Amino acid sequence: MNSEISTKLEIERALRHRSRFVQITPGLAAHYQSQREADFNRLVDLWSPLLILAFTGCLGFGLVFFRGHLIGLDLRTYAWTECLAIGAGLVGLLMARHARWRGNTGRWIPWMFGFIIAVKVASTFQFHSPQLAYNQTYMTLIVLLVGTLALQQSLLASFKGMVIGLCAFSVAPFSAASAEFGLLFLGQYLLAGSVCLFVSFIKEDRDRVAFLQARLLHIEKLEVNRLASELALQVSRDSLTGLFNRRHLEDTLKAEWDRARRNRSSLSMLMIDVDHFKQFNDLYGHPTGDQCLQEIARLIAQVAQRPADIAARFGGEEFIVLLPDTKLEGAIELARMLVRLVDDAAIPHQASSTAAWVTVSVGVSSCTPHELLRKQDLLDAADKALYAAKHQGRHGFAIQHASAMNERAA
Ligand code: GH3
Ligand code: MG
Ligand code: MG
Repeated sequence: MNSEISTKLEIERALRHRSRFVQITPGLAAHYQSQREADFNRLVDLWSPLLILAFTGCLGFGLVFFRGHLIGLDLRTYAWTECLAIGAGLVGLLMARHARWRGNTGRWIPWMFGFIIAVKVASTFQFHSPQLAYNQTYMTLIVLLVGTLALQQSLLASFKGMVIGLCAFSVAPFSAASAEFGLLFLGQYLLAGSVCLFVSFIKEDRDRVAFLQARLLHIEKLEVNRLASELALQVSRDSLTGLFNRRHLEDTLKAEWDRARRNRSSLSMLMIDVDHFKQFNDLYGHPTGDQCLQEIARLIAQVAQRPADIAARFGGEEFIVLLPDTKLEGAIELARMLVRLVDDAAIPHQASSTAAWVTVSVGVSSCTPHELLRKQDLLDAADKALYAAKHQGRHGFAIQHASAMNERAA
């Protein structure tokens, strides 16, 4: 939880202090990279076949349109260039689909991309025919623009691809082209490259902000969920003892009553009252009385062991254990166990006329719910049993079967 809070603070700081390029916090860098990788792979899958198809189409178009110029060395240059560029594209496409290479496309695709541009740049200056040289210039710029924009490469990747391509320009022997053409090419290349870098910059900056905002939202959602479950817990718990409170008990009793009625199963209840607790408070003080109740609650929780059992504070020094799917014999066993557990705890109680330690009385009630019976009947029976246990001298339990009003009247 603490790490989430510090991540949240870091993200908020990064978003607040963003100047030109929003920084991804170190803790999130790996997550951001893998998300980018996944996005990039999706784009590679989507666009690569189309791009290769388009460039193959351009090759065919060039062959037909420039057939008059494609002679001698120019034909060889043209064929080699296009084969290398399209071949590299195909290899890249196959690699991007292979598990071994797919994980780090962001690293090698810029090189592949740069290679294709470099081949095109280098060939531009090899053509003797000006038409072919101009055509290759346009094709190079189109590859640069489309490759960067369609694949939405990162700023660094775009920059790498562009620089690699430019390397070819610096080493290309200007055999046939004039210096003027070289300068013109360089100007157009730099202009197109700048557009690519600008678009990559905007795109990556937006991606970073969107990523951080999504993380922030995710962390806040976790926080809200945690608070909601904490609140739900607080609403159903008794603050002193940590047991369920009366409201939760009543809700559960209703649900369990209906379930027992549907399944024709038994539902039992223990109503527990601390003996002579008023005297305990009077003698030891209220805070010690609270501690005593906490200790008794801990012992009661030990008795309610099954997942469906509910131990609740009913009010004051009275507790209830609801035992779904439990017959009277089982409930009696638990009542006996609880009385013994409280005895074993031996909390001193010098003001008690029953024993030298704190004792409890337990009323045990049980029934198999049916249409003539109400859940209040089970509570009333437990209350009656508790009253009987008190009358029998406390420090023990008594039993009462739940009965419907008409049965009681009879
Ligand atoms: P009996 O054996 O018949 O049950 O007698 P009793 O003294 O236990 O019963 P009575 O109902 O006369 O007194 C209950 C006492 O429990 C009175 C009340 O001050 C005390 N009590 C109720 N709630 C709390 C609590 O949250 N903390 C403390 N310390 N005492 C409480
Ligand atoms: Mg009481
Ligand atoms: Mg009492």
